[in-house]
Amino acid sequence: MTPSSGQHVVVIGAGAIGVASAIELLRDGHRVTIVEPATPGGEQAASYGNAGWLSTHSVIPPAEPGAWKKVPKFLRDPLGPLAVRWTYLPKALPWLVRYLLSGWTAARVEATARALRPLLRDAPALHKKLADEAGAGHLIERQGVMHVYPSRAAFDADSLGWNIRKLVGVSWLEISADEMRQREPDLHPRYQFGVLVEEAGRCRDPGGYVASLAAHARALGAEFVTTTAKGLRLTDGRPVSVLTETGELSCDKVVIAAGAHSKPLAASIGDRLPLETERGYHVMIESAETGPRTSMMASDAKMVVNWTDRGLRAAGQVEIAGLEAAPNWKRAEILHDHLLGMFPKLPRDLPPAAIRSWFGHRPSMPDGRPCLGYSRASRDVVYAFGHGHVGLVSSARTGRVVAQLIGGRETEIPVSPFDPKRYL
Ligand SMILES: Cc1cc2nc3c(=O)[nH]c(=O)nc-3n(C[C@H](O)[C@H](O)[C@H](O)COP(=O)(O)OP(=O)(O)OC[C@H]3O[C@@H](n4cnc5c(N)ncnc54)[C@H](O)[C@@H]3O)c2cc1C
Repeated sequence: MTPSSGQHVVVIGAGAIGVASAIELLRDGHRVTIVEPATPGGEQAASYGNAGWLSTHSVIPPAEPGAWKKVPKFLRDPLGPLAVRWTYLPKALPWLVRYLLSGWTAARVEATARALRPLLRDAPALHKKLADEAGAGHLIERQGVMHVYPSRAAFDADSLGWNIRKLVGVSWLEISADEMRQREPDLHPRYQFGVLVEEAGRCRDPGGYVASLAAHARALGAEFVTTTAKGLRLTDGRPVSVLTETGELSCDKVVIAAGAHSKPLAASIGDRLPLETERGYHVMIESAETGPRTSMMASDAKMVVNWTDRGLRAAGQVEIAGLEAAPNWKRAEILHDHLLGMFPKLPRDLPPAAIRSWFGHRPSMPDGRPCLGYSRASRDVVYAFGHGHVGLVSSARTGRVVAQLIGGRETEIPVSPFDPKRYL
C-alpha cells in the first residue's frame, strides 16, 4: 500500500463503519480526527445492538418481487416483522416506493446480490484480522450460521433468494429434521429443516468489538472529538471544515459515516439522499443456559438468535417510523415470545431485570445497497453510510474501500453499484 501524503481526514461517526474506515486511513498515513458525540460502540449505535452475524450470504435486498402485495399487512399489523407506522407514512412513502421498485423483478434482486457479494464475501477473515490487530480476536468466530424452517416447503417458498445466492457463489448444507435434532437438541421440534452456511461467521459482542476498534484507532493516533457534526463547509469545491455543535474543525477530507443520521450531513453540501431508518430491536437474556449451538435465523419469526458475551440475544423486526418516534417495546416482547417459542427450556419466570431490551436504527437505502462513494460536490468528501442490514459484516471491507477512495486509488471491489449518484 502506498503511504499517502498524510492529509487531515475527519471521520464523522464512530460506529462499525467509521472506526474501520479510521483504522485504514491511519494505515495510509493520514492524520485522522473522529467526531462522535457518544461512546464508540455504545447503545446509541446500530453497531452496538445488532445480531452479530457476519453473514457473507446476506446479499438479498429486503424487498423481493411481489413485496407490494404485503403492503396492506405492513400497515395493518403494527407488530408484524415489518411494519410502517401510519403517522410516518407520508414521510416514508417516497422511500417505500423506491424500496418496492428496487426489488420489483428477480433481475433487480440479482443485480444487488452481485453488487453486495464482493463487499461481504470474505468478511469473517477480514474481521478476524482486524480484531486480532485490535487485541479483540476472540470476538470473531468463523463457525457458520444456520437458517431454520418449519419444513422443506417453507424453505422452497424462499427459493428466489436462495437461487440467487447460489448464482453469486454461496453454498450451503441442507440439514434434515433428524440431523437438526442432533445438532440443536434445545430447538423446538417444529423446526424440521435447516440450511447451514459454513462460510459465514459471527461476532460475540458487536458493541465491544467496535469499542476495541475505536481504542485501536486511538492507539494508532486518531484524535476523538466528542461532539455532534452539523454539516460541512466547502470552499471552491473542497471541504475546509466540519461544522459541529462546539465549533468548526478544519480538514482536508471528510468521511460521512454517521449511520442513520448521515442524511442532513450529505444534504449540507447539496446531496439529498433517500436514507431511512429501518428501526430494529433486540432482547437479551443475560443468564440463559440453553439456546442454539449454532447461531441461527428463524425463518418464520425473521429473527436471529446469537450467543453474545453479554447474553443470549434475539434481534430483528423492521419498523418504519423515523428517527424521532419513541420505541415500541411491544416489539421487543414479541422477540422474547419468539425466543421462548424456539427454545422451550428457557425460563419463563425471569425477573424483568434479567432481560435487556434495545432499540436502534439500521441506516437503510431503498435498494439495500450502501452509499459508498464520492459526494457530488467534491471527491474529498466520501460517503460511507446506508449499509442497512449488513453494516457489521461489511464494515471491514468498507473501511478499506473508504481509504482507497480517499487516496484516489482504484478500489479493490467494484463500487459503481454503491455510487451515491444513483439517487442524485
Ligand atoms: C436489530 C438489528 C440487527 C442487525 N443485525 C445485523 C447483523 O447481524 N449483521 C450485520 O452485518 N448488520 C446487522 N445490522 C445492521 C448493522 O447494525 C448496521 O448496518 C451497522 O451497525 C451500521 O453501522 P454504522 O457505523 O453505519 O452506524 P452506527 O453503528 O449507527 O454508528 C453511527 C455513529 O455515528 C454517530 N453519529 C450520529 N450522528 C452523528 C453526528 N451528527 N455527528 C457525529 N457522529 C454522529 C452515532 O452516535 C453512532 O455512534 C442489524 C441492525 C439492527 C438494528
